Amino acid sequence: MAEVVVEQLVKRFGEVTAADHVTFTVRSGELLSLLGPSGCGKTTTLMCIAGLERPDEGRILAAGVVLTDAAQRVYLPPERRELGMVFQSYALWPHMTVANNVAYGLRTRRAPEAQIRERVDDVLRLVQLDGMGARYPYQMSGGQQQRVALARALVYQPRILLLDEPLSNLDAKLREQARVWLRELQRRLGITTVYVTHDQAEALSLSDRIAVMSRGRLVQLGTPREIYEQPADSFVADFIGQASFLPGHVAATGGGRVRVRLRSGQDLSLESSAPWEAGRPVLVAIRPERVLLADGRTDNVLSGAVRAHLYLGARHQYVIDIGDLELRIEIADELPEGQVRLYVPPQALTLLPHAG
Ligand code: ATP
Repeated sequence: MAEVVVEQLVKRFGEVTAADHVTFTVRSGELLSLLGPSGCGKTTTLMCIAGLERPDEGRILAAGVVLTDAAQRVYLPPERRELGMVFQSYALWPHMTVANNVAYGLRTRRAPEAQIRERVDDVLRLVQLDGMGARYPYQMSGGQQQRVALARALVYQPRILLLDEPLSNLDAKLREQARVWLRELQRRLGITTVYVTHDQAEALSLSDRIAVMSRGRLVQLGTPREIYEQPADSFVADFIGQASFLPGHVAATGGGRVRVRLRSGQDLSLESSAPWEAGRPVLVAIRPERVLLADGRTDNVLSGAVRAHLYLGARHQYVIDIGDLELRIEIADELPEGQVRLYVPPQALTLLPHAG
């Protein structure tokens, strides 16, 4: 089992606590993304797993082996951790052919030459660069170079792979293709992978599970669907996809349902088994793409005035004024100007606590 366990990891840089009691487990064969805005501590966490940073507190284990344990003063150097790594600045050797770039690490480990050649061929085939071993990096596209960097990590046949924004140098279209390709390869090899990204679309499409980080802390860990549909707080809801947050208070509860009175005076109901007391200030998070035209419905309907419209080709984006509140929606239909009635399905609502 090639699990990675991170327990109560703390890493400080002077006044900054870059990783603040971070705890999670990456299951064997799983792709887990560390996702969050710039500076939230993703790279620091990955560097601690890699052994390129030394934690102040906590323990990290990989495949049952203790890599680092601050309390016991255990610290395995990176070269003894048997992890594959690809970083943002993957820096291929420009004066070496692709094959030599990939073989470099094996040569420094003094593996037999015939074995090196065979492994390099295998791994170049794996990343779909067979026949390109004799080229130099400058003769390859950005996407191909990225795959060479991946081949260089995979040539040791690691059971665990650490990737830090490995697709960030690619343009949008190439990046999307590379995502699909990388995901297929990772599944096929069954290689436990920790993937750092600040790109929520990338995390949602690639991951088995996502760990969302903010200011050094892990704020939510779950499947992409859980994170998107049941965000733990307004930070997660806002960071993952878009959402409008409408303030109000709990007007009534009972029978597994909660009715919220929005500040604008309108009511929305949703199903919730959580114990929300009447009178409690809340935020109702609404995803723009979940809102529909009311079409004769009367429950969970908000009426408002169209303020702004953006044409997106297949869809339309609108900003609707609901009293003094603002609702952003994305919808296939073009709305009439002026007043509109919109239906917000109960299952499209997420209730979040609000300071009031
Ligand atoms: P990005 O996506 O921008 O790389 P990140 O989430 O990976 O961000 P980290 O690189 O882990 O964030 O940085 C977390 C915090 O620690 C930041 O405030 C950063 O400035 C700080 N930090 C990281 N490395 C160092 C260092 N070597 N010395 C001092 N501060 C550091």
